[in-house]
Order: sequence, then C-alpha cells, then structure tokens
Amino acid sequence: MIKLKYPIPQKKLECKYLKSLFSTKFESKNGKIVKKKFEELKSKYPYDVIFFDISFEDIIFLQPENMKCFINKIELRIIELSKINYKTIEKKKKFIYEAKEELKEVFKYENKFQSPISKFFEKNFQTRTCYFCNIHFVNKYKIDDENYRNEFTLDHYYDKATYPYLALSLYNLIPSCYTCNSKLKKNEEFQNLAPSSQRYDFDEKVKFKLFLKPSCDNLHIKSGDDIDIPLKEQFSDIYDKYIKIFHLNERYKAHKNIVFEMIQRAELYPESRLKELQNLTGIPFQQIKKYIFNLIDENDDLSKKPFSKLIKDISEELELI
Ligand SMILES: [Zn+2]
Repeated sequence: MIKLKYPIPQKKLECKYLKSLFSTKFESKNGKIVKKKFEELKSKYPYDVIFFDISFEDIIFLQPENMKCFINKIELRIIELSKINYKTIEKKKKFIYEAKEELKEVFKYENKFQSPISKFFEKNFQTRTCYFCNIHFVNKYKIDDENYRNEFTLDHYYDKATYPYLALSLYNLIPSCYTCNSKLKKNEEFQNLAPSSQRYDFDEKVKFKLFLKPSCDNLHIKSGDDIDIPLKEQFSDIYDKYIKIFHLNERYKAHKNIVFEMIQRAELYPESRLKELQNLTGIPFQQIKKYIFNLIDENDDLSKKPFSKLIKDISEELELI
C-alpha cells in the first residue's frame, strides 16, 4: 500500500547494511561471515556454475525490479544442471532439493541475522506502520528495564524457503505487521509489485472512494454504517490480487468511523467558519484546516502514521485538499 522510501544516499545505506551482516556470525563454533561462506560455496560444483557471473553483493543488493528475472535465471540453471547430471526424476529432484538446502544454510536469516537486520531497519528507516496495510503500528516498545516487545516483522517479498538465496537481500525485506506477513501473505508473491520497487505505484493508482449507502436519507449520514470506502484502481487491475490477499477492503471496513468523523467535522467546519477562525486567531487558513481535519501534507511520508493513506484519499473525496 505504501511505497518504501530508502534513506538517501542509498550507497551509504547499503554500506551500513553490509556492516550489520558482516558483524554477525553464524551460530556454529567456527562461525564465518556470510560472504565468506558464499564464496566458499561458489568455489564448489555446482555452485561455481550456478553463480559463475554473480557476486555476493549482486545478490544482497539486487534491485526489486530485477528479482523475478534473477530468480528465473537461477532456478533454470539449477534445473538444467539436474538434467545434465541425472536421468531419473527422483535423482533430479534430490539434486534440486540438496542445492537449495545448502543455499539455505548460507543465507540463513533465522537466529543470528534476524535481530541485527531488524535493528538495522528500525534505526535507518524509523519504521512506524506496516507497508502492506498502513493499519498497524510496527514499533518496538519497552515492557520493563531490560525487555522490549516487538510488533515489527520483516516480510521476505520473495519467500525465503523457495528462494533461499534472497533471504538476506536488502530490497527483498519489507517491514510489516504480523497479520500481513504471517497470517495473510504467507508465501504469496505479486510479480514486480514489491513496496521496495521504484515501480510500485499503489498510492497513485489505487484510491479509497467514498460511497453513501442507498439507505442513507437525503445525504444525511448518521453513522459509519451509512458509508462504504472501497479501494478502487484506476485504468488497470494489477493491484487486485494485492487488495484481496491482504483483505484490505474488509479490514478497512472495520475502521469506517475514521471517515464518518471526517464527514462530521466537514459539516461542522464549512469554509465560512474556518475563515472566522482565521480572523479570530490570526492563524493562516491552511494551517487551521490542517489542524481541524488532520490533513496529510503532499510531502508527508504516509508510512509514519496509521490510516494516513485513507485520510489522504478521503480528504480528496471531501474536497478538503
Ligand atoms: Zn499490515
């Protein structure tokens, strides 16, 4: 739902990311840093063939737009090698399985990597809400002097069990809430629609629209039950699956009161009253409007507050902005 904006300059961010990966050792006694482990693997057959033209950094900083293509290339190479080496289906399958298992061991996200990568995201992104739904806060909070509770999860846009080589790739990691990540998305993928991608344009293409229920009398809205706020995509349907998988329409229905309150405020504060307030207080008109309607500025990062996409779109519907 919300595009992930990376701190600029991106090269500096990538350096920091590498540092957090390199500072982390594997749990085994002779823990090796992940790059060394990958290079050792790459010196052996069949990985020398699979990754012959691919460096560790190529994988870690693979751009989201290129991920699907990269996956196709690697998967095809693994399948081709299985065909060259083995004749029976069982043996081919075993070869593919074992190749993936070794890659899982190298790019293992669990245990030692999970915590430093989460910390890296918390520190460098100051992430506040889930990028998939913009409903839930994904923050960390202190429960006592020593312990934190974490609402923060990182979704592997391309699932780490199927594509283990992308488990630590920076742009494959999307800060998200538990509901979106574990309960709804699971292993689903939406081709080239990662919020980390330059091409991700959900906010421009898909808008919350305001509809009054036919039962609603003379435009007089008595409660949230009188309105509907479905997400509508303009001129295409590429985000259809996305809206369905995350149950966005159903989940936002439960928050229609936010919109009802906006409508009530719009009735209470017509332009004439806002002008009176301006004359009375000397505060500029736009500023008063922003305070009263909780308006979102054009340049505000929508990920910082829950429901900011909903508030922005409905403000447009109500012609408040
Ligand atoms: Zn979410």
